[in-house]
Amino acid sequence: MTSLNLTKSQAQPNIILPQVLNRAPEGTKVFVLPVGFLAADAGWFLRGANTSTASNPAGPNGKPERRDLVMYVVLIDHPTEGLILWETGCGRDYPEVWGMPVADIFARSRYEPEHELDAAIAKVGYHIDDVKQVIIGHLHLDHAGGLVHWIGKDVPIWVHKVELESAFYSAATGADDAVYQKHYLSLDLNWKVFDDRELDIFPGMTLHWLPGHTAGLCGLQINLIESGTFVFLSDHAHVQENYHGTPQGWLARDHQAWFSSNERVKRLEKATGGLIVPGHDEKVATPLFGKVFK
Ligand SMILES: [Zn+2]
Repeated sequence: MTSLNLTKSQAQPNIILPQVLNRAPEGTKVFVLPVGFLAADAGWFLRGANTSTASNPAGPNGKPERRDLVMYVVLIDHPTEGLILWETGCGRDYPEVWGMPVADIFARSRYEPEHELDAAIAKVGYHIDDVKQVIIGHLHLDHAGGLVHWIGKDVPIWVHKVELESAFYSAATGADDAVYQKHYLSLDLNWKVFDDRELDIFPGMTLHWLPGHTAGLCGLQINLIESGTFVFLSDHAHVQENYHGTPQGWLARDHQAWFSSNERVKRLEKATGGLIVPGHDEKVATPLFGKVFK
């Protein structure tokens, strides 16, 4: 785990780096909680995966590669803001709720009752009803499906203005069907929007607008006194390979915007020494489970 050590350049006087100075207050606790597992064709996540060639018609591995994906949320016990939730997972009974063919393409691969959002929160000693703020990186069904827990309630649901517009437009017109679904895009949620490129939303927490995978996707940076900086990417990168240069597959939308966003995340990583956490990479996320970051 990286710590919040200042690099040589950052330690020089008169250089102000808000991403490092905006530290979470003493007493902040952060939990990364698994909320389910999916498996799907690797072509959804990595450009060119499973490509058939003349010399190898069956593709690179002789058969289509499938990828296991973890889904996670981040729970922040914040001294001044109360309990904050970053993203929500798929929601209860999602294979039935999504229906075919979506539930067959993105198939539930492992299930335990503790993967339910309310159970995952209870496992670390909190109650879902105590969540005071929800922040959504992007509104695709595997990140925002759990919003159904807050329909008809006053809990603020924070999302970038462009993402809310894009999601409602897609659900209403079918422009990007299936990945945005209307059962959680409810007018009875307490939507709160911002249109900033960067927003210090709460002490120690900064949102970065990273368009590309979706139009209004944001990543969340948290700067912790002991554990250092984390940058949760939502699906700017599904898996580490995206961040390190392999573009997204069939789920890519605006590639030019995505490339620029990726360069911004690289600069952020360099400036903060933070841990970059893709949306679904088991190798990166699993070591974070079961720990308390302060
Ligand atoms: Zn996702």
